[in-house]
Amino acid sequence: MNEYDVSARMKSDIRNTVARARVIGFAAAAIALVPALAGASPEASPVSAPMQSFESCRGDLVAWVTAHEVPQAVADAHLAGVSSDPDVLAATRNQSEFVRPIWDYVEASVTPSRIETGQRKLAELAGPLAAIEAQYGVDRYTLVAFWGVESTYGAVLDNPAVVKPVVRSLATLSCGDPARAGYWRDELTASLQILAGNEVPLDRMPGGLTGSWAGAMGQTQFMPTVYQRYAVDFDGDGRRDIWTSTSDGLASTANYLRAHGWRPGEGWGYEVALPEGLDAALADETTSRSLAEWRDLGVKPIRDRPIPDETASATLILPAGIRGPAFLLRPNFAVILRYNTALAYALTVAQLSDRLRGDPGLSRDWPRSDRPLTPDERRDLQTRLAERGYATGGVDGKIGPKTRAALRAYQGSVGLPPDGYADAALLDRIRATPGGRSAP
Ligand code: CA
Repeated sequence: MNEYDVSARMKSDIRNTVARARVIGFAAAAIALVPALAGASPEASPVSAPMQSFESCRGDLVAWVTAHEVPQAVADAHLAGVSSDPDVLAATRNQSEFVRPIWDYVEASVTPSRIETGQRKLAELAGPLAAIEAQYGVDRYTLVAFWGVESTYGAVLDNPAVVKPVVRSLATLSCGDPARAGYWRDELTASLQILAGNEVPLDRMPGGLTGSWAGAMGQTQFMPTVYQRYAVDFDGDGRRDIWTSTSDGLASTANYLRAHGWRPGEGWGYEVALPEGLDAALADETTSRSLAEWRDLGVKPIRDRPIPDETASATLILPAGIRGPAFLLRPNFAVILRYNTALAYALTVAQLSDRLRGDPGLSRDWPRSDRPLTPDERRDLQTRLAERGYATGGVDGKIGPKTRAALRAYQGSVGLPPDGYADAALLDRIRATPGGRSAP
């Protein structure tokens, strides 16, 4: 999968999350288990030494949270007696070398059943959605798409085989994932502050405060600190209830998107047709051009779209290379990426929103015979590019902007379309041609 310009740690989170998701069966929302990680602290600050026992670490956590606005009674009731959850630890430690192509992610979530259910929800909730649109300026199709991708319109929240107690999961991660212990501890503290605030409708939640294995909660899967910052009480009952109130959940998502720069009246972008012979190097996610410039280059929307302002900027991307579908991305696409930094995730939300609106699917199919590279193969590719003098910004197994730029330069030098797309065929090619000083 391609990931765009986000920190290495976040990319690693997302990649690992994808691998972990299969273990605990959140298949429908496989790439959405750790949403809204944008607020995560990049610096890990372990609260305990790795060899500390869980019981001892938990005692430290009780002391920490009660020093941070969590009443002792709440800490005693929800944290003091929890045990470590081995399933959560297994999920964090699971690493997979198997990588699915981007179209697998998109098509696993944009299914006929999810489109049909989403359209039914749009009809049922027309009133609240109109009110949310009016207040936040985020269109109903985007909001319902987030809801569908994150929790299958709330259905997974009622599945006891999938959801887990949030406090137990976050305590487990705070003590068992030393590299990110500070992040998890802050989320744990927030979850207990939320419980102390009496906004969680525990009378309607037989399993208590539950969420994904990583502590993401409610209809659109907010981490606890994200809840604290962005959740809203839209139905007016006095509680920001993202768990059992659809209005609160969808309005909270609208509030999050608006706060991160969502532009009312603009979509995420659209699929485009490319003219014969277009320089694939123009599909460079770091370079924006005006819609007028794209038009003059022959890059055309597949379907008629209202273009309010031709000076508005857009970026061309080819997520599966020159043989796959092409998209012009408007600034709102970057806002979707603030929810979850994986390109596959954002394209899934975008595609589902279009389908809910009634658009047909993509006009150009994915290059389904291509095989994406495993992390080991990506490192091999980076090593070989570096040996040939193309700077990849390190050998980390991640195809970021620098590696894509190096790849484009290499592709151009050997007469391939410089689309920056790495698949098995490209690796075979670079392996088969002599190049670097240490090449075999
Ligand atoms: Ca409410």
